Amino acid sequence: MEIKYVTTTCPYCGAGCTFNLVVKDGKISGVQPCQRGPVNEGKLCPKGIFGWEFIVSEDRLKTPLIKDKATGEFKAATWDEALAVIAENFKKYSPEEIAVISSARCCNEDNYAMQKFARIVLKTPNVDHCARLCHAPTVAGLNMVFGSGASTNSFDDLAIADCVFIIGSNNFEAHPLAGRRIMQAKEKGAHIIVCDPRVTPTAKQAHLHIQHFPGTDIQLLNCLMKQIIERGWVDEEFVKNRTNGYEELKACVTQDKYSIENTSVVCGVPAEKIEQALEWLRECQHKTAFVHCLGITQHTVGVDNVRSIAFVQTLLGNIGKPGCGVNALRGQNNVQGSCDMGALPNVYAGYLSVMNPDLAKKVADYWGVDEVPNGKLGLHIPEMLETFEEHPDKLKCLYLMGENPVMSDPNSKGVEQAMENCEFLVVQDIFETETTKYADVVLPGSCYAEEDGTQTNAERRVQRFRKAADAPGESKLDWEIMKMIAEKMGYGKYFTWETTEDVFNEMRGITPQYAGITYAKLDGDGIQWPCPTEDHPGTPILHIDKFAGMPDGKAKLQAIEHRAPAEVIDSDYPIWLTTGATIWHWPSGSMTRRCEQLDRDAPTAWLEMNPADAAKYNIADGEKVILYSRRGEVAVNARVTPLIKEGVFFMPFHFTEARANLVTNTAYDPVSRTPEFKVCAVNVKKM
Ligand code: SF4
Repeated sequence: MEIKYVTTTCPYCGAGCTFNLVVKDGKISGVQPCQRGPVNEGKLCPKGIFGWEFIVSEDRLKTPLIKDKATGEFKAATWDEALAVIAENFKKYSPEEIAVISSARCCNEDNYAMQKFARIVLKTPNVDHCARLCHAPTVAGLNMVFGSGASTNSFDDLAIADCVFIIGSNNFEAHPLAGRRIMQAKEKGAHIIVCDPRVTPTAKQAHLHIQHFPGTDIQLLNCLMKQIIERGWVDEEFVKNRTNGYEELKACVTQDKYSIENTSVVCGVPAEKIEQALEWLRECQHKTAFVHCLGITQHTVGVDNVRSIAFVQTLLGNIGKPGCGVNALRGQNNVQGSCDMGALPNVYAGYLSVMNPDLAKKVADYWGVDEVPNGKLGLHIPEMLETFEEHPDKLKCLYLMGENPVMSDPNSKGVEQAMENCEFLVVQDIFETETTKYADVVLPGSCYAEEDGTQTNAERRVQRFRKAADAPGESKLDWEIMKMIAEKMGYGKYFTWETTEDVFNEMRGITPQYAGITYAKLDGDGIQWPCPTEDHPGTPILHIDKFAGMPDGKAKLQAIEHRAPAEVIDSDYPIWLTTGATIWHWPSGSMTRRCEQLDRDAPTAWLEMNPADAAKYNIADGEKVILYSRRGEVAVNARVTPLIKEGVFFMPFHFTEARANLVTNTAYDPVSRTPEFKVCAVNVKKM
């Protein structure tokens, strides 16, 4: 038996752990830790260890499928047949009638290929990907304040901080190996503060747990800023030399409504807990790291939540220093990279704005085409789905890669209608999913274990995937599929890549942050961008001397008021619902639920409720109940636990048989268009 070990990167969360795939006689048979990992130092979470089995699942798509219009059944097809149907149909639609959705689950090269395909072949500005559902507010918010939408610091900084302030992140479950770096800080004496409505495993590790109501983050952060200002703790030199807008911010946050007393009421948090947090922020000034995740971003005020975090750290002078910063734990493995690649409606690769005609010309010249879509923002994912659902005469065709919106987007019934209305739908994936059943053509793509490629983790570290086995059956690499469609449609001369590395090298020629990164350089521990030249070592900490992305080099402070969520509780829907992940599964469950060990530990969904709420409704632990909102209802087992705040329910979102998104709200942030998954009003009844 031939055994080989292929060093690669975990495909789940944005921590970006390194491990070895074990390959026996050409077939992947397990994972072994690898001491080389700069992030995980040989350790892995359950998803890292057990999450490989989906790769060899019998359920993998192996051939293209074409839907028989008469019967509605899929039939296996050759690539020639599938490409012919796709090319014929794609040609029917104008650029405004067609959209593409790329995926943060796919490597950088696939995302670069997808946005190039959209802009050159389909000529559409409507390109987006699933960062829209998670960290788009981080990108927009940090970009507005600091001129760059990326995390400012590294995981190494979490380990050396004297205080780690975690808000809206259950990293012990969602990013366990990033959480391990925080525990390293705790072991050396750092204060750990967690703000979360639930007593999560992360909160259990904290010295201080601030259990605020969902949707009250700005109230809490403004309260902290009011005290920082009024107690004279502002880093005056930093604010004077490196920021604009301080007086506007000060006038806002020092209002009486942001007093500790009022915040205690609005957030439902004892005043002494806020006092304790303030004491540690003061004690650990210039050595405090903030960490946030989807508990901050998935709100109609997600961008403002992120900006408020950035403001706290700016007032304290905690930017551009070791052990500090605003550290966003990206959800999917390649959220950072797929944004960097320009799979977004407002920017090309390297964050070159589509609204700037000079940059549009630069991209067009680089690709050798007359022009690329510019001067108009394309549709974001929520706008695409809304248009398919309500105006199917305007948007008619969708090309999806690696995404499953029926499971992952809010208000599943509305998404199902949107998919039903779609005149021509192509889905490229590795499994049949809840969304593929609406497709006209399904294309078998590949996964991380079958491709040489790169991804970029939450600390901007560009890392390698390495091919361990062939994709099953007739499956192909995702960028190869786009190349084949482009050739079929007469655009082959723009897609001449022979290898994944060819795609990377084209990408880095137009993406300044990646200009100095080569596959050879990535053979070590990866490189943190920006890396402008091949002799540059990469950049662990941003904004050390100035905010280079801001026109005047200074951070922009502004007034931000606390606003209520889009939907608030009332007598019909008197309970707040918040949704999230468990350590055993990853978003829509299509990969982790095909891994026996993971599925055995978390086989189905549950609804967490406080014993006081359970008593009000006379619900027993384990009883099946109906959770309902203004959008729909879902049957789910109750889990009665004091680990959730009274008046708040929690439900994980991985389970198709009990889809949390049947009840979640489609309202979205006006800037980032990220839906408010983290808070809506619900009620519950016995079955
Ligand atoms: Fe994979 Fe994230 Fe777990 Fe690391 S922490 S093994 S990247 S899921």
